[in-house]
Amino acid sequence: MPRELLLQVTPEIAANELLLKDYLSKQIKVSPKEIQHITILKRSIDARQKAIKINMKVIIYLQGEPFQETKIELPIYKDVSSAQEVIVVGAGPAGLFAALQLIELGLKPIVIERGKDVRGRRRDLKAINVDHLVNEDSNYCFGEGGAGTYSDGKLYTRSKKRGDVTRILELLVAFGASEDILVEAHPHIGTNKLPKIIEDIRNKIIEFGGQVLFDTRVTDILVKNNEVEGIVTQNGDKILSNKLILATGHSARDIFELLDKKKIFIEAKPFALGVRAEHSQELIDSIQYSCDYRGEHLPPAPYSIVKQVNGRGMYSFCMCPGGVIAPCATSPGEVVTNGWSPSKRDQVTANSGIVIELKLEDFKPFEKFGALAGMEFQKSIEQKAWHLAGETQKVPAQRMIDFTQNKVSADIPKTSYVPGTTSVEMGQVFPGFLSQILREGFKEFGKSMRGYLTNEAILHAPESRTSSPVRIPRDPITYEHLQIKGLYPCGEGAGYAGGIISAAIDGEKCALMIAETLK
Ligand code: FAD
Repeated sequence: MPRELLLQVTPEIAANELLLKDYLSKQIKVSPKEIQHITILKRSIDARQKAIKINMKVIIYLQGEPFQETKIELPIYKDVSSAQEVIVVGAGPAGLFAALQLIELGLKPIVIERGKDVRGRRRDLKAINVDHLVNEDSNYCFGEGGAGTYSDGKLYTRSKKRGDVTRILELLVAFGASEDILVEAHPHIGTNKLPKIIEDIRNKIIEFGGQVLFDTRVTDILVKNNEVEGIVTQNGDKILSNKLILATGHSARDIFELLDKKKIFIEAKPFALGVRAEHSQELIDSIQYSCDYRGEHLPPAPYSIVKQVNGRGMYSFCMCPGGVIAPCATSPGEVVTNGWSPSKRDQVTANSGIVIELKLEDFKPFEKFGALAGMEFQKSIEQKAWHLAGETQKVPAQRMIDFTQNKVSADIPKTSYVPGTTSVEMGQVFPGFLSQILREGFKEFGKSMRGYLTNEAILHAPESRTSSPVRIPRDPITYEHLQIKGLYPCGEGAGYAGGIISAAIDGEKCALMIAETLK
């Protein structure tokens, strides 16, 4: 019988098949030649002690024991070109996985995306980085693959539904992602590999009879007697269907405004906001791995930190080891930061959002903006940061200790943020209570992670698109909007996901719910 084993080995052994075989043969007292195959089921790093270990769960097959290589395949899709049509607005993870699921269920998705395909999008990313030009339809948040395309591609989620998570990971593998993502405790794909996977998903949707329309912005939702009839695009074209998955992401402010104007029920939702901190990856490695040099077998170290400061949660968000800070504005006149990394995470810098949880009462004056109060609060900070940094895509920046001491930094070294930085006292960007919590919080972080609080670390502002400032409420059982029949608010923008995997899961769920109604 093949044996399942839990083990703890050095990073060197974990990284080398021969060494691992040798190690296991000693553990189970057989010669290495007798081991036919080792399947790795799980792998995680245990950095709690000075000597870092890799925890692994493996299955060992000895010679003669039945072993078959399993290849992860796509589900069987059938042609849906003449099937019932379902409109999917947004080609982010929620929209794309909804579309795939619809095809699997025998329904025809019409995916409508305001941005360009992954290739066309690259030119606009260059324009924002180099020329400080923001294209309102094609940027780091908008375009094929949504906000997840040019990201770190971290694939972990707090979702407890492991089966749902595994299904999405397996689909990603079937579309070309490395099988390692099924094994690693903290899998990620990387910006260089995501576009091809997304392109292949789109091609599959089209191959089986779905439609994908780029450069097509939805400007109106047609509703009659509280039931969806279809959408209108920026060119005035109408696309009709009484089933609509709205997966437009957390940055589609025009969609939130449209729903509010049409009196389609939405509500303000708390989110988190703060700065993006950049350290050298070497420093983060030395803190996390308690060593001077990481060595060749350990990956660039991530970190995750949470503190309660003045009664609020302050925490690291979307940490990118070996990554780069990206300009993620979606309109001219604002600046926004986020981070990405290549699959090897081989940049010399490590960045992370450091954010504070907000409460509805922070969004003042609430009465004036109602459901859009959080969005307006977010917008005002992004616009203020834009103004303070010189009205380009440069962002306000400050050295970390200078910030905790309310001192404008005399100089800011070059950081990974390509458009550049302007030395600004961060206290000017945020309301007083937020700056105060951030100042206190960084001191607390420095106590937990020795060396983290340093003037070598540069804060960039703001990190403001952590999750949606609006919820589009839906029935928890049917996923249909509480007021509008046939409307399925979906993914991060609707307030039901936070990250690539949970958005993809939500997309699939919305598709399944629609299929239920058509049975
Ligand atoms: P989105 O991905 O936002 O997609 C919405 C889509 O709708 C967009 O393509 C948009 O163009 C389109 N759209 C909007 N309005 C309209 C309209 N009116 N008409 C037509 N189309 C419209 N998450 C992780 O899990 N791991 C990470 O490592 C990670 N890194 C990130 C790095 C960056 C730089 C960014 C910006 C985000 C990152 N995220 C990461 C967050 C993640 O990308 C999102 O949580 C996820 O993409 C949300 O999926 P979604 O499909 O709900 O929405």
